[in-house]
Amino acid sequence: MNVFEEGAVTDEVLARAGAQLAAESARFAARGWMPGTAGNLSVTVGRDPLRLAVTASGLDKGELASSDIVIVDADGAGVRGEGGSEQRPSAEAGLHARIAAVTGAGAVIHVHALAAVTAGHLWPAGVVLRDLEMLKGIGHSAHGETVTIPVVANGQDMTVLGDAFEALYVRPASGSNDVPALIVADHGIYAWGRDLRQARWHLELTEALLQIALARR
Ligand SMILES: [Zn+2]
Repeated sequence: MNVFEEGAVTDEVLARAGAQLAAESARFAARGWMPGTAGNLSVTVGRDPLRLAVTASGLDKGELASSDIVIVDADGAGVRGEGGSEQRPSAEAGLHARIAAVTGAGAVIHVHALAAVTAGHLWPAGVVLRDLEMLKGIGHSAHGETVTIPVVANGQDMTVLGDAFEALYVRPASGSNDVPALIVADHGIYAWGRDLRQARWHLELTEALLQIALARR
């Protein structure tokens, strides 16, 4: 359960969020999914209005302190005076916020994992998966169901990316796009869940499924 959702964004809530974000970032950096300063993680710390604690921009994700978080609003803009650091939020915070708003996620993870970057390039209309045991881990059947991991084109405008995501998530054209992950072609992947642990499971499973899709090509 997401313990951050309700009530005031207290110093205690932020300290806990910061510690979890630093620990998860170190995990993904060690896996090579956050090369350099790439990638960012967020947890939802308020719903009305929407507030996310997101990792600060430009820092090595293997070396974050629990204080290296910034509070952002529904547009991904930094919010002053509500705790967190005065550092710059990631430019990608806007897409985190859109995903949290549309899906109700309690945590969003964005990394530059290799299979996702490659699969998004090869299958720009979406990665179609079927008859794989690990589909159960992202909320689908192991047999007889076609599941599409949605892909959007890369870009630097998070509003454009957010609109593209929402169109696929809310109005899937074919198959099921109702999966807790989004590939940004030639860039990376976003995955989400009710909390950071579930978001991590969804990320690991989706990346593994994409590795299989590439191996079977
Ligand atoms: Zn990125």
